[in-house]
Amino acid sequence: MHLRGMIAGIARNAVARIPPFPMSADVENKLRVLRAQYARHLPSKIETLAAKWQSLCDHPDETDLAQNLVREFHTLAGSGTSFGFPEISRLAHLAEETLRQADPATWAHAPLRPTIDDLLAALADAARTSAATPAPDAQTATAVTSRRVHLLVNDGALRGSLEKQLALYGYEPHSFATPEAMFAASETNIPCAMVVDADDCDAAGRHRQCLQRQHAGSEVPLLVIAGTGDMENRLHAVRAGAAAFFIRPPDPHVFIDTLDKLVRIREQDPYRILIIDDDADTAELYAGTLQQAGMHTRVVNRPLAALDQLHEFNPELVLLDLHMPECHGTELAAVIRQLDAHVSTPIVFLSSERDIGEQLAAIRLGGDDFLVKPISGAHLVSAVQSRAARHRLLRSFMVRDSLTGLYNHASTKEMLQRELARARRNGTPLSFAMLDIDHFKRVNDTHGHGVGDEVIKLLARTLRQRLRATDIVGRYGGEEFAVILPDTGSNDARMVIDALRESFHGRELPGQDGSVFHASFSAGIASFPDYDTDYQIGEQADRALYAAKQAGRNRVRVASE
Ligand code: GH3
Ligand code: MG
Ligand code: MG
Repeated sequence: MHLRGMIAGIARNAVARIPPFPMSADVENKLRVLRAQYARHLPSKIETLAAKWQSLCDHPDETDLAQNLVREFHTLAGSGTSFGFPEISRLAHLAEETLRQADPATWAHAPLRPTIDDLLAALADAARTSAATPAPDAQTATAVTSRRVHLLVNDGALRGSLEKQLALYGYEPHSFATPEAMFAASETNIPCAMVVDADDCDAAGRHRQCLQRQHAGSEVPLLVIAGTGDMENRLHAVRAGAAAFFIRPPDPHVFIDTLDKLVRIREQDPYRILIIDDDADTAELYAGTLQQAGMHTRVVNRPLAALDQLHEFNPELVLLDLHMPECHGTELAAVIRQLDAHVSTPIVFLSSERDIGEQLAAIRLGGDDFLVKPISGAHLVSAVQSRAARHRLLRSFMVRDSLTGLYNHASTKEMLQRELARARRNGTPLSFAMLDIDHFKRVNDTHGHGVGDEVIKLLARTLRQRLRATDIVGRYGGEEFAVILPDTGSNDARMVIDALRESFHGRELPGQDGSVFHASFSAGIASFPDYDTDYQIGEQADRALYAAKQAGRNRVRVASE
């Protein structure tokens, strides 16, 4: 009786709760739809559960049915709070535990039977309340993708040289005379970074925080320039939230490199997260939550279909449910660990399993971490993001070139194989371009190796900035680059690369002793299906590049012509 009263009380209090979490309008809408859909389906879900329970009471010896019922309560306990219905979760968990602790042979008998009956009735009540409760409005935020840099630098000469340097590297510098003017402008045009004199760093720090609150999720990095690098100045900058600190005047290359790194953190490709969970609703909710934080997700509801997605999607982290019908999460983790390409891919279990022994076993068998459902959106995002970031960083030491941050030779070749296989499977074209800077020896000889390095970096960033996110850019050798353009035939590839050639050649580059000069590159392109294998494609692109050099350099040639 006491339990019955308590359950009724819980059910009356069942209201939808949305975790407080900043979201982009799109994803927010999607999550709202998912939540509403979940709430709508709840009553019929619980009816089905009740019917199963009834049928188990009629046929107490059906052990399959018994196990199935426990699993369904378990799933409901996991999904309830995830969708913002914690009371549903609590009731389902109560039912699951009650059943687990009793011998299945006694389930259908008193005193257990009325308890489960009561819990089901309370669940039905809670489900009806939930379905009728609209989700509260959540705030929306706009995404920031700008190249604007706001400067508040009092020293005129320094300001001028920073502006020039920023413009050269593709940023849009905007200088302001007072903090107020800069803040006013930042309200309407959010910059990708702010550069300020130490004198104004307090005000800039406060403003940056304010911007962040308004445009949730977008961290505007603050770079502070001070007259001296003593502890007091540095501490002051750190307290204002500075991401970088420079002594006046900053080395222009170090300054741009630092800015690049800070901005790239926000601009880089989204993390790819594979979610494997037999409960479609929960998987979609987690996918939506991670998408909101800017990640790419793929959902697999049948664990046996996971292999295909691992190859195709090449995730940087796998979020894995533990209890699934076809195979157990730990078994799947062991399978994933045996794939060469995924030896180091983080695997994070996400399950309502509360048994610490089971959790430890899961980690022993190849998991990296164990998160317990329900988990708040913010917690899930931060857990996934930090592990994916670390994985990407570690991998980048293996696959990236250190000067440019582009893919190195070996990984570019691997990518070509992967993309070619995909193009063949989808029946889409693919182009491969090889680029080589013209007379680069001369650049080195005239301006020095340091300027040469800068030209290489400039071409690298031009390629990365101007190509699509799906294009793959690698540094093939010293002053040689390779670009893989999926879904692109040779004609389109030629137009794209030629436009890049023209733009690169048009740049005024700062040489030695204040001189300026222009650099250029030649390119050769070979495409699938004109050529069939990665070997042929590489060789033909190289030949076309040679032909472009022979024909006078600063031009693009296509192999099949
Ligand atoms: P071409 O137009 O025929 O390509 O002439 P080139 O001078 O560019 O070609 P070559 O292959 O003769 O010389 C390439 C030069 O690039 C030689 C090498 O010292 C320089 N180089 C290679 N890697 C780097 C690098 O990382 N930094 C700098 N500064 N120079 C490099
Ligand atoms: Mg060369
Ligand atoms: Mg060259």
